[in-house]
Formats: sequence, structure tokens, C-alpha cells
Amino acid sequence: MPPSPDDMRSLSLLSVVIPCYNEEMVIREMHDRLLAALDKVPETDLEILYIDDGSRDSTLDILRELQRNDQRVRIISFARNFGQQTALTAGIASASGDAVVLIDADLQDPPEVILEMLERWRQGTNIVYGLRSEREGESWLKLWTSKLFNRAVNRATNLHVPFGVGEFCLIDRRVVDILLKMPDYQGSVMRMRVAWTGFNYEMVPYKRLARFAGNTKYPFRKLVSMAADSILSFSLIPLRMITRVGCLSFGLAVLGAISTLIVRLFTSAWVSGWAILSILVLALGSMQLILIGLVGEYLGRIYIEVKQRPLYVIKERLGFVPERDAE
Ligand code: UDP
Ligand code: MG
Repeated sequence: MPPSPDDMRSLSLLSVVIPCYNEEMVIREMHDRLLAALDKVPETDLEILYIDDGSRDSTLDILRELQRNDQRVRIISFARNFGQQTALTAGIASASGDAVVLIDADLQDPPEVILEMLERWRQGTNIVYGLRSEREGESWLKLWTSKLFNRAVNRATNLHVPFGVGEFCLIDRRVVDILLKMPDYQGSVMRMRVAWTGFNYEMVPYKRLARFAGNTKYPFRKLVSMAADSILSFSLIPLRMITRVGCLSFGLAVLGAISTLIVRLFTSAWVSGWAILSILVLALGSMQLILIGLVGEYLGRIYIEVKQRPLYVIKERLGFVPERDAE
């Protein structure tokens, strides 16, 4: 049953967090489209937080120009490139809204969808995901692998990240406050953290367009590392699998020993087989190396985590009210 108008949440400030890395070709268009869409939201203050993730093009200059012309624009500029997920973390840490939207700078996620997200939020939903129901400019191979991967992640982590959901979402202040208590360095895949909080969610389907301009900042290498983070930072199942694999191969070895013994004792056949032996040695050896590598992945993450370094370094903050600037 939909809530009565009296039960609807009211919004006094909406924050929009936009990570930007070398996005000089899209920022202006993004800003105009965003404002055009959000001007339709009545009686609500707006703040737009652009996180310049160490861009080497003129992104920061363009942002400064936008900020000069519009008091609602805030800029956080990183000293170097720290990655989209870290930029999102910095954004929500400085956002003051009752509801916070995370959206890419490249107009793949249409800003107009935010209106529908807000409607769901008003009705009491704490997490409103944008659901990519159609994707432009993505190969079937990428779609298929991401579907497979989504299933594996949900299974390994026992969380439910709906398929087709990315970083585009609207989250309630309560969710933001919990996310800010999870400052882990590596486990910073935002959609995983959002799912981890376990709040009620809804999805708003939209057509994910091709990039407005510029190139993707996610080469295959970065995609793989994000995939590893999604599982390794939220699950110990890969570690447990090692023991299972070990038990399985030990079982096979016992069976092999028994059958060899039987052949030797009760038949006149002579068990030879250097070929199978060398294959087994190679197979077991490489399996061990792979599994040691897996343990190393966890170890490396612990190492990075115990150093407790800051997640990011801010070079400059612009457009925040003075007491926030002084932080
Ligand atoms: N991004 C960022 N830092 C990075 C890589 C990307 O802030 O190191 C931003 C980028 O500017 C964009 C968003 O994250 O706003 C998504 O990046 P992109 O569009 O390249 O990813 P894709 O849509 O191809 O997955
Ligand atoms: Mg993109």
C-alpha cells in the first residue's frame, strides 16, 4: 500500500555526487542536463559535489568556472588519481543532503531518472538503484561476463546486488552514515557496500546510453581488480575453498593408492606411468601456487588495511561553507 501524503518524507537538501576523471568533454553538458532535470524538484535545496579525481586535462578549470557561476556547486579536488570508488567515498563524506545521489559524469546515466528515484525515496525507500534495463554500446561478451560475475559475487558474499545495478543510485542519509563508518581501503566497491547495509531497496529501470563523449576510464585491468575487490573484501569463501580443494585431491590420491595396491597384489600387471605422474606433479604444483596466490591476495589486503593510511588526499576544496572548508 503506498504511504499517505502525510507519511511521505520531505526533502530539504539533495546532494548529487559526481566523480570526474579527465572529463573535460562532458562536464558542461552534464551540469546543464542535471540542472534542467532537478529544477523540476520544488522547495528543495541542491548541492552538486564534483570530485576531481586527479584529472590531467582541464576538468578542474571547468569545474571552477561552474562553481563561480553557481553557489550550489562544490568541488573536491584530489592530489592524484585515487579511483572512482574512492572519489565517491570522499563525495558522500562531504555531502550534507537528506538524500544523496551518486552518478557518473559521462551522461551514461540520464540525470532525469533522479526524479523518479526521489519519488521512491519520498515513499520511504532507503536505497533506490538505477537499473540498466538496456545498454547501448556494450558487447554481448561484456554483458554475459558481468551476468556471470554478478551471480558469483552474490553467492560468495551472501549479499544481494541486483543484476544490472551499477554505482548510479540514490541513498538515504541513514545509509550514508553507515557507509561512512566503513572506511576500508580496498573494500571500497560502493555498490557492494550499499548492498551490505541491508536497507530496503527499489529499482528504477533506465536505458544506459553510450558515453556522451570521451573514453571509458576502466580498462580491462581495472575491471578485474574491481571484480576481485567485490569478492575478496566481502567474503572468506575463496579461502575456505582451498581446504575443500585440498580434501578433494587427497581423496583422489587415496583412491589412486588403493587401486594401485589392488592391481599390484591381485594381478600380474605392472603399474607404470611416468606420464600421468608428471602431469599430476605439474597439476598439483600449479594448483598450490594459485592457492598460495589467493592467500597472498588476502594477506596484501590486510597489509594495506593495517597501515591505516588516509583513503585519499585532498588538494583543494571549493564552494563549501566556511566552517566546512576549515576542516
Ligand atoms: N572515474 C573517476 N576516477 C577514475 C575512473 C573513473 O572518478 O579513476 C569516474 C569517471 O570520470 C566517470 C565515472 O567514474 O564519471 C565512471 O567512469 P567511466 O565512465 O570511465 O566507466 P564506465 O562507464 O566505462 O564503466
Ligand atoms: Mg561511463
